[in-house]
Amino acid sequence: MHEVGLVAEALEVAIGAARKAGATRIHRLTFALPSGGHVTPDTLEALVLVMSRGTLAEGAAVSIELLACERRCMVCGTVSGASTDAVECCLACGGPLVERGDVPELALASIDVE
Ligand SMILES: [Zn+2]
Repeated sequence: MHEVGLVAEALEVAIGAARKAGATRIHRLTFALPSGGHVTPDTLEALVLVMSRGTLAEGAAVSIELLACERRCMVCGTVSGASTDAVECCLACGGPLVERGDVPELALASIDVE
C-alpha cells in the first residue's frame, strides 16, 4: 500500500521534530490532505494508530486539514476550485480536467508536543 509509505514518512518527520524539541510525547498530529486525493481521512487515522505504536506519537490525536484540490482544464486552462469537487468536466468549455501536480498527497501540517 502506497499510503503506508506516506504515513511512515510523515510520522518520521513528526517524531524527528518532537525529539529535536525535547518532547517526550506527541499530543496531536495535524495532517494536510488534498480533498479527493488517494489518502482518505479514515485510512490516515487507522494507519497512524497502528504505525505510531511504541513511538513518541503513540496515542496522539489526529487532526486533518482538507486542502482544496485545484484542477485545470486541458482545453482552455480554466482552474476549478474545491467547490467543484464533483465536477468532472470544465465548467467553461466541457473539456477534461487534470489535477494540478503540485499538491502533495499527504503532508504533516503541525504537531503538538509535551
Ligand atoms: Zn475548459
